[in-house]
Amino acid sequence: MKVYKFGGASVKNADGVRNLRTIIDGEQDLFIIVSAMGKTTNALERVFAAAQQGDLATAQQEIDLLRAGHTEIIEELWSEQEVLPRVEELFADLEHFVKTNEYRSEEAEAWYDRIVAYGELVSTTIVSEYLNKTGVSNTWIDMRQALRTEQRHKDAEVNLAASEPLLKAAIAAAETSVFVGQGFIGGAPDGTTTTLGREGSDYSAAVVANILEAESMAVWKDVDGVLNADPKIFSNAVQIAELNYLDTIELAYSGAQIIHPRTIKPLQNKNIPLYVRPFGDKHKPGTVIRGMSAKVDVPILILKRDQVLLTIRSRDFSFVLEEKFATIFSLLERFRIKANLIHNSAVNLSLCVDRNWYIDEAVSALHEAGFDVKKVDDVELLTIRSYTDALEKKYAHTPQVFIQQFTQSTMRIVRKSAK
Ligand code: ASP
Ligand code: MG
Repeated sequence: MKVYKFGGASVKNADGVRNLRTIIDGEQDLFIIVSAMGKTTNALERVFAAAQQGDLATAQQEIDLLRAGHTEIIEELWSEQEVLPRVEELFADLEHFVKTNEYRSEEAEAWYDRIVAYGELVSTTIVSEYLNKTGVSNTWIDMRQALRTEQRHKDAEVNLAASEPLLKAAIAAAETSVFVGQGFIGGAPDGTTTTLGREGSDYSAAVVANILEAESMAVWKDVDGVLNADPKIFSNAVQIAELNYLDTIELAYSGAQIIHPRTIKPLQNKNIPLYVRPFGDKHKPGTVIRGMSAKVDVPILILKRDQVLLTIRSRDFSFVLEEKFATIFSLLERFRIKANLIHNSAVNLSLCVDRNWYIDEAVSALHEAGFDVKKVDDVELLTIRSYTDALEKKYAHTPQVFIQQFTQSTMRIVRKSAK
């Protein structure tokens, strides 16, 4: 079995879906994971936000736009006034859910998952039916049934052991050797829909590859492979031919947009190579990520945006690492706040964290627990692996920099956002 993952950009329109069909031409024993089309997930987040505020008119408008966009793709693919009843049903379900359920704030995350999951449910339905129509018989897999996650919404981790029998049973029951499943979504033990965190489809694909012991996984993207920097931010980006798992997990964690950070572990555990390939040209080699690869010989620059810098001090002047570390981190964990960089002095702990829904609540909770907290919004974290003197000169020691950390190989900087 091979696993292919197609992201939202690669299926954003009818051409993208046709291109997917070309890429998989002639393949058997293939599990295809598909994300929501284009920017659908962002639009569904707006549906959620509107519903949360009780603004049903805006929610309905957003749903109408989504329905129209998907209908256009379907009509172009079928070259006629085709209606796919299963797609209609999904939109009707979504509408029904938004209109008839009373929002309760303690269910915010469960609601979010329930609503945004429609992006992948719709995209995979279209892809699966289009493949069937064009001679690739395939089975649509409902990943809410096949992947069992932890009982946690919006950023759930997959329980591999619990998912294995479910996914294997779904495969065994099918009469085809090509499968189409949704990225990004799963099901909690209580039966509700969960999502795996934004951009989580890569992780879904890696989990499927792990469980089915795939020979390889490929992520088809709108770039030629993994570059040493985002060309939209840094000039002179070059492609990297090979990466090892360890470098990749560090890069992804630092914010490189290559793949979701959770993707590597399930692959590394079964020694499955990961190919990052351009969907525009299936003959180009792309980048291969696997256990044994040479060290990368160019500097790698990664910018992680949407960060917040928290500087925490115990009001009674206790030593922050010796006495307060556990208190602070268990509190942050409660609010789902992830620290990307830690810096300390005797009484101060500075944390560069992802911006999330609960930052202000966490700050209040820290206050109550006896800490003074200084918060700086709009910061970003720049990581440079294998930095050179020239790069150090260019990016470190400038007035916008709040924190800089150096090891022999890596330099990390928390600085005011450029925007
Ligand atoms: N559709 C989801 C997102 O936009 C998951 C993914 O694309 O991987 O975040
Ligand atoms: Mg995506």
